[in-house]
Amino acid sequence: MNKSLLFFCFLFPGVLQAQVTFNPNDLNTIANGERKSHEQSFRHGHAITTSAFDVKFYRCYWIIDPALRQIAGNVTVYFKPMQAGFDSLVLDMHQALTVEQVIYHQHSISSWSHTADLLTVRFVSNLPQNVIDSVTVVYQGVPPDDGFGTFVQDQHNGNPILWTLSEPYGASNWWPCKNGLTDKADSVDITISTPNPNKTATNGMLVSTSSLGGNTEFHWKHSYPIAAYLVGIAVTNYASFTQKVPFGNDTLKVVNFVYPEDSTNAVAQLPAIIPMIQVYDSLFGIYPFQREKYGHAQFSWGGGMEHQTMTFVANFEFELIAHELGHMWFGDKVTCGSWTDIWLNEGFATYLSGLIYEHLDPSLWVRFRMVRVQSITSMPGGSVYCNDTTNIDRIFDGRLSYAKGAMILHQLRWIMGDSVFFAALNNYLKDYRLAYGFARTEDLKTHLENSYGHDLGWYFNDWFTGEGYPQYRINWSQTADTVAFTVSQTQSSPGVSFFELPIQLLFKNSGHDTLIRFNNTFSGELFKVRIPFPVDSLIFDPQYQIISSNNTVNAVAEHGLQAGLQLVPNPAKDHVTFRFGDLTAGERGNIRIYDDYGRKRDEVFPGHGQSEFDLDTHAYPSGLYFYVFSIRDNTYSGKFIISK
Ligand SMILES: [Zn+2]
Repeated sequence: MNKSLLFFCFLFPGVLQAQVTFNPNDLNTIANGERKSHEQSFRHGHAITTSAFDVKFYRCYWIIDPALRQIAGNVTVYFKPMQAGFDSLVLDMHQALTVEQVIYHQHSISSWSHTADLLTVRFVSNLPQNVIDSVTVVYQGVPPDDGFGTFVQDQHNGNPILWTLSEPYGASNWWPCKNGLTDKADSVDITISTPNPNKTATNGMLVSTSSLGGNTEFHWKHSYPIAAYLVGIAVTNYASFTQKVPFGNDTLKVVNFVYPEDSTNAVAQLPAIIPMIQVYDSLFGIYPFQREKYGHAQFSWGGGMEHQTMTFVANFEFELIAHELGHMWFGDKVTCGSWTDIWLNEGFATYLSGLIYEHLDPSLWVRFRMVRVQSITSMPGGSVYCNDTTNIDRIFDGRLSYAKGAMILHQLRWIMGDSVFFAALNNYLKDYRLAYGFARTEDLKTHLENSYGHDLGWYFNDWFTGEGYPQYRINWSQTADTVAFTVSQTQSSPGVSFFELPIQLLFKNSGHDTLIRFNNTFSGELFKVRIPFPVDSLIFDPQYQIISSNNTVNAVAEHGLQAGLQLVPNPAKDHVTFRFGDLTAGERGNIRIYDDYGRKRDEVFPGHGQSEFDLDTHAYPSGLYFYVFSIRDNTYSGKFIISK
C-alpha cells in the first residue's frame, strides 16, 4: 500500500469493497443508450480510407461556449505522404462547416476546394514521400443537426452543456479529419477555450490552463494512437474529482467530471471503477493508456461512449461503467477495422462487464449469461457479423452485436478452456499489427486458432456469420448406476445444420448432484455415464455455458418393465428379445418401435399367446429406442439401447 492509496482510502473508504449490483435491464439500456447516442452521428459523415497518406497528429484549437451550438477554431493535420506523386491532401469535412483559411507553411493558400463533404488541399508541386508535412484548417460553423446531431447543446439543472459523440461516422461533422477505420493519428493535442466557470473533458491529460479575458483555455494532450471517432469533447460547469488505482508500484488516476448536482451520486458509485480496472489489468494486461489517465465525463444522452481515456456516461451504473472501461482494451486499444466487425468492440465490452461479475461477485455471473441467452434466443435468426453497416440499429443491435457477441466469446472459452482462451486474447491485444490499431474478425480467429492449435473456421461459420441457435432434446433413463441418454438437436434457423458444442448436464436428486460435460458431435448421439445415486432429475446446461433455447428433457418411463415385460439383452447389438411374461395371456398384441426423434421405425405383431419375440436390430444405428407394446386395451412402454 502506498501513500496515494492511503489518500484515496481516506476520500473513499468504501473503495476496496465496491458494491456489485446487477440490473438485467442493463442489457438493453447499455445497447440502446449506445445506439441512441450513435444515431446522432449517422445521417452525415464521410469516411475516407485512403492509403495515400498516413495521418500522424492533429492539433486542435476550439472555441466552445456551451450555451451556443456552434464551433470555431482550427485543426492542424500532420500527415506523411505514402506514395510518389502526392499532390493533394483530402480530408473528411462536412459541408455545413465553413472553411475560412487553409494555411500551409505559414501562408494562407487558395488552392483548396470543399465539396461533397471533402476538403481537398492542392499543393503547387508533389510532396516528397515519407516526409511529414502539415496543413492548418481554420473554420467555423454549426455542425449539422438533423434531429440527432453529433454535436449536442443541451442543459442540466439549468446549466448549458455541449458534448460530441462521433461513432460511427460523425467526427467530420464537426472537425476536419481522416475519418475511416484504417488510420489512427499517433497523438492528438486539444485546446478548448470556453467562458468561465466551465470546464472541459476530453482525451489525454490536462497539461495547462490559462486565462484569456472571461475565458479559460484548457490544453489537453493525448499521446497514444487514436481513431477519429474516439475523439470527444464535453464542456459544462463540471465538478471534478480524482481517484487513484494502485497497480504494481504505480498508480493510475481516474479523473471524473460530473454535474455538480450529481456529485454525491458519483462519489458514492464511482469507487466501483477501482476493482474493475484491477480485474481487467490482471486478465488483459495493464490499462492500455497507463501513462495518462482514465476518466468519466457526464453527458446528457445515451448510456455511454468510450472516448479514449475519457468515457462519457449518462450515469454511473455498475454495468455501464464496467462496459465502457472494457472498451479501453477492446475498441480503443484494438479497434474494429470495419463496422461489420463491431462485435470486436461491443461483444467484447459486454463480455468484459460479465467478467467483472465473475471476479467481484460470482453469484451474478451465471445470471448475466442467462439474461444474454434469453435475449439472443428471443428471435430465431440474426448473425453477429453485421450485414448492413448503413443501418444504425443493425450496427448497434443489442441482441446481436452485444449479447450474442459476448456469448460467442464465452462459448469459445467453454470449448477451448480458460488458459488457452485468455492467452489468445492477450496475444491479440499484444499483436503489434493490431495493438493501438485496427483488427478484423479474421485477426482474432487467427490468434484463437494459434493458441488452441486447431482450426476454428467451423465455429466462426456457425456462430459469427451463421444464424440461429440449437434446441436440444434429451431423453434419459437410469438402470442401476448407469444413466443412458440421447442428445438430439434442431436449429432455430436454417443455414446451420448442426451446432457442435460441448454440453453440460446436471444429474441430481434431493441429496446429491453432479455436473458433467459431454462433447456432443452429432444429433441423436447416445451417451452412457455412471452416476452412483438414483437420479430424479436431469437439468440441461444449468450454468448457461452455451446459447440454446426451447430445450426439453424427458425421463423415459418404464411401464413395461414395471408390468413384468423384459428386454434382453439391453443394451443390445443385432437383436433384442421381448419376454412378455403373463401379459399376452394367449392373445395377440403389437409392438411399435420409435427412434429417438420419435419416428416409427418398426411395427411387429407377435403371434397369439407367444411368450417372447425376437426383434432383428441389425439395421438399427446405435442409439436410444422406445417401444410401445399394446395388447387388448393396455399399452406398456419403455426403452432399449442399441450399442454397436
Ligand atoms: Zn459499448
